[in-house]
Amino acid sequence: MPLEPGHIERMAEYDWQSNLPPMCPKCGYNLRGATTNRCPECGYIVLSKEIKREAAKLQALMQRAEEANDLVGIGFKVALVGAVLLVVGTVLGTQGGTAPILGRLLGFIAGFIGLCLGLAYVRVLRLPHWARDELKNPPNNGLAIATIVLSAALMVLAFVNW
Ligand SMILES: [Zn+2]
Repeated sequence: MPLEPGHIERMAEYDWQSNLPPMCPKCGYNLRGATTNRCPECGYIVLSKEIKREAAKLQALMQRAEEANDLVGIGFKVALVGAVLLVVGTVLGTQGGTAPILGRLLGFIAGFIGLCLGLAYVRVLRLPHWARDELKNPPNNGLAIATIVLSAALMVLAFVNW
C-alpha cells in the first residue's frame, strides 16, 4: 500500500523526546522516509501496531544500552584494581605468607565482577547498527573489549603459576 511521506513515522506515535525512526519488526531496517508499508530490505508488510510495539521495545533497549556504557566503565576500574592486588600480592609473596593467596583471590573476584560488567556491552550489540549511532552516550567499543580481556586474563592468572 503506498503511503504519504511521513506516514510511517506517524504510525509510531512517538511520545518520547528522542527522534527514533520507525523500525522493521522483522529485520530491524530503519524505515524513516519509507513510502510504502513494505520493508525495502526484507519485503515484510509492516502493520501499524507492530511499529508501535517495536518503537517501545527499541526505546527500552536503547535505555539499557546507555546504562551499559557506565557498567563497562566501572568494570574496567574494578579489573584494574584487581590486577594491582594480584601483582602486589604476588610480589609481596616472594617472602612467603598469605599475600599471594589473598592477592590471587581478590584478583579473581575483581576479574569476575569486571567480566560481568564488561559483558553488559552485549546490550549495545543487540541494537541495530543505525540505532547505535543514535545513542546519546556513544558506546566505547575499545573500553568494552579491554574490560572483557583484562577481566578474563585476571581470572586465568589468579590460577596459573607465573
Ligand atoms: Zn525488514
